[in-house]
Amino acid sequence: MTVQPSVRNLSIDGDRLWDSLMEMAKIGKTAKDGVCRLALTDLDRESRDLFIKWCEAEGCSIRVDQMGNIFARREGKNPDLPPVVIGSHLDSQPTGGKYDGVYGVLSGLEVIRTLNEAKYETEAPIEVVSWTNEEGSRFAPAMVSSGVFAKVFDLEYGHGRADVDGKTMGEELKRIGYLGPDEPTIDAHPMGAYFEAHIEQGPILEDEGKDIGIVTDAQGQRWYEIKFTGVEAHAGPTPMKTRKDALLGAARVVDLVNKIGLDRSPLACATVGMMQIHPNSRNVIPGEVSFTVDFRHPDDAVLSDMDKALREGVEKIAKDIGLESELDNIFYYAPIPFDASCVDAVRKGAELGGFSAREIVSGAGHDACYLAQVCPTAMIFIPCVDGISHNEIEEVHKHWSDAGGQVLLTAVLAKADETVMAKSD
Ligand SMILES: [Zn+2]
Repeated sequence: MTVQPSVRNLSIDGDRLWDSLMEMAKIGKTAKDGVCRLALTDLDRESRDLFIKWCEAEGCSIRVDQMGNIFARREGKNPDLPPVVIGSHLDSQPTGGKYDGVYGVLSGLEVIRTLNEAKYETEAPIEVVSWTNEEGSRFAPAMVSSGVFAKVFDLEYGHGRADVDGKTMGEELKRIGYLGPDEPTIDAHPMGAYFEAHIEQGPILEDEGKDIGIVTDAQGQRWYEIKFTGVEAHAGPTPMKTRKDALLGAARVVDLVNKIGLDRSPLACATVGMMQIHPNSRNVIPGEVSFTVDFRHPDDAVLSDMDKALREGVEKIAKDIGLESELDNIFYYAPIPFDASCVDAVRKGAELGGFSAREIVSGAGHDACYLAQVCPTAMIFIPCVDGISHNEIEEVHKHWSDAGGQVLLTAVLAKADETVMAKSD
């Protein structure tokens, strides 16, 4: 009988993880040392093939579902327990980096490699998943396949997503040989827990000199389209007092949106990112302006309060200038608190490894946000240089990558051996 090594003595091989990241980054490598690996292209297929080759070399069994999500399974002592699943995505933005998504998949593989090397048997099985089309760059929306898995979208919707050339995800999955037979929902494949390690994509961890972000929540979002209609008039003969300037109204809303965000900082984000001015001529008072507002906050009550402040502000500004206003809340995404026991497993992993860590809220969407709706879920963030991502210059220091992998290993083992630990308590 083999003696099980103690969790405390297990450590991932940071060099091996780093080498795999660099090897994967060769597929779709761009001139500026980034990665272009759009979902369901030939390059995406190459990255999938390599991932599967590595997993099979570790003795994993592979399952591909009807959305092309790939699951690599390392059996547990008790195969009837639902697996602890680790994952993220292998697709990238057109000018993406080497770590966004890939880090979560390959650090999952590194957990399996570490356990194999140590001959460590977990109670529950462990699976590593790569979700199809997380980025939403070639096929909108983002996170469509983890969304199908979490039953936010149905299969027909998933397969029907089309790129600019009209090619659908269903057709392209078939073309690259990744239209699997497996039912792509949580019903067919219950999960004990889901962990996703990801780069932060913001500057907070690096600024504060922390190696690990313990992600407690994903922000809620509200997106708006607002239109002001005034009266177009000549910029010369029209006196200031009689003008109905739609752009002046929009400018006041830009300031208001900024204030709404600042008043609720540091957790709130409030942005006007797009504006169209009509007729957009230098000597015409603008008669019509359309623009967008993007609100984010982890607390739904605050998000509602921001909504109220915006609606009241827009109405008042329109009235003051004599404009007509239309306000449309085109998108609402509720804040998601991650599972307390999974978040705790991450926190303990950081403590055990002696890493500096802080709690953090995810400002971006991730596959984990959908998974959190159907199974206990948590995320681990590692810093990225200057907070830059979705950019070819996206960079990570190797000791951050090491730290994230180690925390992931500890957190996953805590969940995979939970039943055993509960028994021995
Ligand atoms: Zn990502």
